Amino acid sequence: MTAAPDSPLATLWCPAPNREPRRNGLKPDMLLLHYTGMDSAEAALDWLTRQESGVSCHYLIDEDGRIAQLVPESERAWHAGQSRWSGETDLNSCSIGIEIHNPGHDFDYPDFPETEMQAVEALCLDILSRHAIPPQRVLAHSDVAPGRKRDPGEKFDWQRLARAGIGLWVPPAPLEGDAGLGPGDEGEAVAALQRGLLEFGYGVEVTTTYGTGLEKVVEAFQRHFRPARIDGRADSSTIETLNRLLTAHRGFPVA
Ligand SMILES: [Zn+2]
Repeated sequence: MTAAPDSPLATLWCPAPNREPRRNGLKPDMLLLHYTGMDSAEAALDWLTRQESGVSCHYLIDEDGRIAQLVPESERAWHAGQSRWSGETDLNSCSIGIEIHNPGHDFDYPDFPETEMQAVEALCLDILSRHAIPPQRVLAHSDVAPGRKRDPGEKFDWQRLARAGIGLWVPPAPLEGDAGLGPGDEGEAVAALQRGLLEFGYGVEVTTTYGTGLEKVVEAFQRHFRPARIDGRADSSTIETLNRLLTAHRGFPVA
């Protein structure tokens, strides 16, 4: 364990016991953003540094923008859980995890304060300066665990981060009021949607049937990229936003 934080922005160094070497020689090439979903940042820090919690993360940011480091960036922290992206499932071994304090959807889901967002932005830029993390691999926990996780949620300002050079984001296509595709639908249009989401990185199977799994992935997609309506239905705005992202995504080298 190193004796000092990796980030000069971390003013607290609170080593967490739940850490281990990254597996298979993997280096961080993904940044995963979370919310704590707890009452307070203090309670989150206490939980994330207890062995019995079974979880940990690299960084925790409180609502006043204070940054604590809990696990060295060179090591594997336990924040992703059962998850999948671009066919990979051991995301803890290839990612750096930031917990951003917010009580979350179960507790009124307040806005993220400006001071907190400034710290998120600064810390992400600092991490990106040390590691080769492509824009399309700066992701929400909900992106890699659809249906199981909703964090950091639709109030999180991805557009702001993208303006600072963090992550891949495109202006969402406007809502058109059409119903689009949804659970129970079948056919080539569903398969095309599945192929698009799969190409972007989401854990979907191409089956031509719009099942519950696809509905959850579309919800996760909307939460991150088209937050105006999160209903799990692939309306024209959702599909057009996905197409815009795929066009941008193809402009970046694959990690
Ligand atoms: Zn999370």
